[in-house]
Amino acid sequence: VDLETFLDDARELLAIESTADHPDGLAAALEFVVGFTGGDFMTERFASGGKPSALLYHGAHHEHGQWRPRYGVILNAHLDVIPAPKDQFHLRRDDARLYARGAQDMKVSGLVMALVFRELAGQLPYALGLQLVTDEETGGYDGTRHQLELGVTTEFAILGESSGLGISTESKGIANVILRATGRSAHGAYPWLGDNAVLKLQRSLGRILDRYPVPDAEAWRTTVNVARVTSPNTAFNQVPATAEAWLDIRFPAGDPDLDGKTDAEVAAYLAGFCEPGVTAEVQRMDSPAHADVTSPAVTALQAAARRQGYHGGFLRKHGTGDSRFYRQHGMNAVSFGIGGAGQHGPDEYADITTIAPYYEALSDFLRTFRPGWGPG
Ligand SMILES: [Zn+2]
Repeated sequence: VDLETFLDDARELLAIESTADHPDGLAAALEFVVGFTGGDFMTERFASGGKPSALLYHGAHHEHGQWRPRYGVILNAHLDVIPAPKDQFHLRRDDARLYARGAQDMKVSGLVMALVFRELAGQLPYALGLQLVTDEETGGYDGTRHQLELGVTTEFAILGESSGLGISTESKGIANVILRATGRSAHGAYPWLGDNAVLKLQRSLGRILDRYPVPDAEAWRTTVNVARVTSPNTAFNQVPATAEAWLDIRFPAGDPDLDGKTDAEVAAYLAGFCEPGVTAEVQRMDSPAHADVTSPAVTALQAAARRQGYHGGFLRKHGTGDSRFYRQHGMNAVSFGIGGAGQHGPDEYADITTIAPYYEALSDFLRTFRPGWGPG
């Protein structure tokens, strides 16, 4: 890979303000990467909820009466970034670091994926897909999920989320829950005449946190963040009649109480911690990601990373990501990207020394991969 030429292209892509509040920026980033592949590929375009996405592959396939192939491998890149001050959209290079919004998460990895796709898609004994989406940072429902719901299938997917050439095999699921407490109002000087909703809520939260205490340090288990506690009461001398708390619950695959459960089941489970008069309502439920590491594809990817001098170890991400949609559809997916740090922060950077090894490892893996290797 000619690093300097590549970095010139990366500079252009990083300069596009492709945030959710700039729809034209999302479209521009997508068109930039589609154009970067050279335009010789089948390009299927999608749009959902105002979010454009694309799926590129080589040649026309007619398998099983469908024109869209079952892919051997899909490379998935999200081209949206979270908002940042204007100066973060001007790439700044400092020694081995490339500073910009999206440098680590994940425009640089995405552009490497597009480069590898451009070079190899026409030469492989299986269909290689390049899936470009623009809504990962806002949930991924209109990009990756949308495409999978329309029937895009693959044996194996690699998402370009930053991993320093490690292999991210798991990410946690999310349950956002609102607890609502109802009591009885009274004069604040006569609290025994009322039923304080804030106190009911507090006792219920206490029981939930007894079950899910905040860990002292990083731990691969279910956590509960109490994100907000409010009451509409505005007077010192009143016993509050209602109160509400927001819970951000993060859970790994295999949590027997939360993984694979419906909203109603999760609400009922949490209501079990609450006293009478406190109800639970699920606002958002997202499943965890969990790759099958017995898959020959995972072993081959690990070997490819090791041939570049990287450990290629398995990583777990506490945050969520688009790979969960593949698991939901019964497909195996991992994240594998360049190195860097400062994701979503003011000093986000890509580690330039990982770009060429990432390019080599990805190319090596795709040349090695054979149909049948995706599932475990
Ligand atoms: Zn990302």
